[in-house]
Amino acid sequence: MHINNDLKNLQKDGLFRKRRVINSAQGSRISIEGETFLNFSSNDYLGFADDEELKQHMIESVREYGIGAGSSQLMTGYIESHQRLEAELAAFFYSKAALIFSSGYHANLAIASALINKNTIVFQDKLNHASLVDAALLSKGKLVRYRHKDVSHLETLLKKYKNNNLIIMTDGVFSMDGDCAPLVEISMLSKKYNALLIVDDAHGIGVLGKRGAGLAEELNLEKEIDLLIGTFGKSFGAAGAFLVGSEILIESFIQKARTYIYTTALMPALAATITHTLDKIKKSNKLRLHIRELIAEYKTLLTQAGINASESNNHIQPLIIGDPKETIEISDQLYQKNILVSAIRPPTVPKGTSRLRISITAAHTTNDINLFVQAITNILNGRS
Ligand SMILES: *Cc1c(COP(=O)(O)O)cnc(C)c1O
Repeated sequence: MHINNDLKNLQKDGLFRKRRVINSAQGSRISIEGETFLNFSSNDYLGFADDEELKQHMIESVREYGIGAGSSQLMTGYIESHQRLEAELAAFFYSKAALIFSSGYHANLAIASALINKNTIVFQDKLNHASLVDAALLSKGKLVRYRHKDVSHLETLLKKYKNNNLIIMTDGVFSMDGDCAPLVEISMLSKKYNALLIVDDAHGIGVLGKRGAGLAEELNLEKEIDLLIGTFGKSFGAAGAFLVGSEILIESFIQKARTYIYTTALMPALAATITHTLDKIKKSNKLRLHIRELIAEYKTLLTQAGINASESNNHIQPLIIGDPKETIEISDQLYQKNILVSAIRPPTVPKGTSRLRISITAAHTTNDINLFVQAITNILNGRS
């Protein structure tokens, strides 16, 4: 049967994925089968997934709102905690309106039915997250991809299609590379060609910018982005996602987005907790500075050990290995030393660029960074 063969081929190519059962909360240390691991695989960048104050808030919110929303927002699932969170998000991002979703994947797919018709051309960076790509693929419009961060390529393509409805979609901080989209140039192009600019800053929000509002804040572009997407699964330490934009844009999602209309609303207690988390994010400059220090430390130590650090100056640090099987072997060797680092392989990243993805969080210490660099140095030296 072809399904069986497909699975065998994945195994043969080193692309088969396995799940590990974690039996602790998220943190810089997590437990697997009773053993403790130093964790560099988490997107819980500010360490909020296991934060005492937030957990207490969640418990109290559950007492107030119960567990489930009971239905989609358009039925009877639009709870006051949702409304409050949406208002706070809109204000935080200097925007008019916001809408919350069950996940970032849902939020991106929503674009397919809310904003794209058969005359729409969607321009996307080649390294965009899969959920952005899928939004275009599942829509009636046409997907056109430009080379990673190549704004002159983007402009050539915009020119070519200039008589259509144009949408530019990009990651803010790229999820598997940690580098940043050239938003200043992209935003100028979006104005020049009258294209709608959509930025998914799932990884930048919370970590970048003075208030933690992400890459756009860092670049002073907050008012230039038409639609911003963020998730609650990364720096917020929870799950869910949101869009912020003009009232008209948000209204078209409420009226037309299938992944908004046909799905159960976010847990109301979670929405109440996340409102509190947002407040905490604003005040987390110390954590952000700590992350910056750790990144600098990491890059210095790696260079001293003779290993090429990536271009990324952010909390996502790829270590490109190339071959998927080799990447898995190295990740397994780290695992033997009780260090957890994800091996990222195609189709998540392009062929030939399999990598370790190290994510540096506020929960880490300088000593953790040292431990990792020593371990990876020993492993790489032992293999060459
Ligand atoms: C994680 C991620 C998503 C998906 O968000 P979920 O809430 O986990 O579904 C979307 N976009 C980007 C850039 C991401 O990194």
